Amino acid sequence: MYNDSHCHLDFSVFDSSRDALMSACQQAGVEGFLVPSTTRSSWQRVTRLAVAYPQWRVAYGLHPYFLGEAKSDDIEHLAECCETNDALAIGEIGLDCWPGAMALDKQQFFFSRQLIIARDLKLPIIVHARKSYDLVIKAVRDTGFIYGGIVHAFNGSLVQANRLQELGFILGIGGTITYPRAKKAHRVLAELEDTAFVLETDSPDMPVCGFQGEVNTPLSIPRIAQSVARIRNSSVADIARQTNNNLLSTFPKWYKDTL
Ligand SMILES: [Zn+2]
Repeated sequence: MYNDSHCHLDFSVFDSSRDALMSACQQAGVEGFLVPSTTRSSWQRVTRLAVAYPQWRVAYGLHPYFLGEAKSDDIEHLAECCETNDALAIGEIGLDCWPGAMALDKQQFFFSRQLIIARDLKLPIIVHARKSYDLVIKAVRDTGFIYGGIVHAFNGSLVQANRLQELGFILGIGGTITYPRAKKAHRVLAELEDTAFVLETDSPDMPVCGFQGEVNTPLSIPRIAQSVARIRNSSVADIARQTNNNLLSTFPKWYKDTL
């Protein structure tokens, strides 16, 4: 059995196909989904959908790329929302230094404030970081946040991977790894500890090799697991088991309903 540790199944692109997709995932052995939210207006929606789809685990947060409509009082509502809904994690939060992203000082304000809420509520976080690993590490240290989480779609160096692990994070490995040209990502993945990573799709984004231009879904997880197994000289079964264990140790509440 597999889990997808990062997928935006609440996005409207899935509205007409969500039920069928969830059945297809069940048949393909992809049975657990971590769905982070992006804006305050999406918190209610993911909460409602997680009732309809009990195999979803949800996180609440303000995504750095979608801060256009964010206001500082969203932060107080975030804390309240996490407590009311017994949140698994806070996310998707972080820093994005890609061209076209929000002003960095605004991103840093919201990231730090959300790190403080996560610290105070003792919740792990789901991190979005593009060209910003060192800034993310600094913000985590400055706020004294110690509850770890996932740095999703990791594509940094082995040094950055090790520094993030020292801070309690595991790394999300997704579709990038399926591309033969992603040599650097392959080298880093080959060197990681077994306990250092989990599988993710970032659906509907980040299609796997051969499916460029299509809407990505969690059905790509077995294909990602195959690539990971090949690169690490391991078996698909071992990769599935290990990454599921890694999710459980990072998110103690992941399976609380079934315990
Ligand atoms: Zn995401």
